[in-house]
Amino acid sequence: MKRNFLSVKIKTLTVIAPDVALLDKIVEAFRLIRTVDPSEYQKIFDRLQVIFITHKTGGTNEFFMPEKIWFANKSVIMKNDLPWLASLIIHEAFHATQFKNGEYILPFGKELEEPAIALQTRFLKKLEGRRGSASPASAYGRKYWKAMDEDASSFACFRNLLELFDTKKLDISVMKRGKEDR
Ligand SMILES: [Zn+2]
Repeated sequence: MKRNFLSVKIKTLTVIAPDVALLDKIVEAFRLIRTVDPSEYQKIFDRLQVIFITHKTGGTNEFFMPEKIWFANKSVIMKNDLPWLASLIIHEAFHATQFKNGEYILPFGKELEEPAIALQTRFLKKLEGRRGSASPASAYGRKYWKAMDEDASSFACFRNLLELFDTKKLDISVMKRGKEDR
């Protein structure tokens, strides 16, 4: 089935999604990152080239190297609050730094995840520090991590979309955005 997508640019990053609400939420998450942690914000653009949001529900998402594309189902974007989404973008972008000469420097699992989760937690604490929260959030202990595992159809969908994207077979309309984010 042919799908149409919309896209916006945030600096060098392309965000692709099936609807405007999804694009807007990603743009908002980037504004939050820029406000809370400007140096981490800058790093994201070296690490991530495309954020690709699918039509599918469910919490599955996956980061592809060397393309630097993060695929996420729309529920990942819509069901999480802005702070969590912002922290997740930082987490996913960090995985790009763990990739050398065509493969990950560590086996999949705890060792690969721990530094990404630590960075994500650091951001959430920084955010809550600004807001004066008494108990800073940890990126651990969220249900998010459990929702991912057994959704093979999403993983297949991501690969299919990646192939279509690489071969320019997707219909993507580029949205204009305000000056302040360019
Ligand atoms: Zn991760």
